[in-house]
Amino acid sequence: MSEKVDIHGVMIDNVTMDEALDKVMDMLKGQTPHKIFTPNSEIIMQATRDPELKNILNSADLLVPDGAGVILASRILKKELKEKVSGIDLVKRILKNTEKRATSFFILGGKPGVAEKASVNIVYDYPKAKIKGYRNGYFNQSEEPDIIKQINDSKAEILLVGLGAPKQEKWIHRNAEKLNCKVLMGIGGSIDVFAGTAKLAPEFMRKAGLEWLFRLIKEPKRAKRMLDLPRFIMLTLKKAIADRRNQ
Ligand code: UDP
Repeated sequence: MSEKVDIHGVMIDNVTMDEALDKVMDMLKGQTPHKIFTPNSEIIMQATRDPELKNILNSADLLVPDGAGVILASRILKKELKEKVSGIDLVKRILKNTEKRATSFFILGGKPGVAEKASVNIVYDYPKAKIKGYRNGYFNQSEEPDIIKQINDSKAEILLVGLGAPKQEKWIHRNAEKLNCKVLMGIGGSIDVFAGTAKLAPEFMRKAGLEWLFRLIKEPKRAKRMLDLPRFIMLTLKKAIADRRNQ
């Protein structure tokens, strides 16, 4: 078990990227489904308002810190996390690792055609990754039994779910018992990045912790939701001041 760091009630695993990959490889040796979520500061803020989401996040087998905001908060709270482990980077590490251990995947999410495009690009870049199936992320509840059957029939080891947060976390939690995959991972908009329909922020912006600014420029309609970023920092500063007073 890795050490957990409490960020506003969300218990993040204090792991490096290498350690996260080792944990995923251990999960693949088991039989039961393991849940991996990748909370960023927006999702943690959502969890402070949604106790069900907080419980779901905390029920995960691996919760990695996705984003510079979470790392900054851990420093302000004097419980420093080792490094940022973003969802997309972890998926890329698992894909790279297929050179050592062939691994199979099912991709669920994105608009019609996007998961298919992502699959083609992934197999091109990582020839040892087996994509056993894919499906778009727009469906109603009556279609879920068929989708679950399709995933189980594919015998994929890892299910990548990109339905946006908190939909994907709730979907994974609700269906975990019915799924035969060994790893169930929520990956947000990563399917769009693999498909080439969305771009990652340039490296210099990612290094400077400015992914949020890149996304705001690309998707101005996210502005309202992004107000959670300054709220997250304010909440963190308040908590740090209260902690120091109580010392
Ligand atoms: N999406 C989906 N089904 C839905 C709603 C969203 O498959 O009912 C997909 C959407 O096409 C996109 C991803 O979920 O690929 C949401 O990406 P976003 O970047 O908004 O993720 P978040 O930042 O919410 O994790």
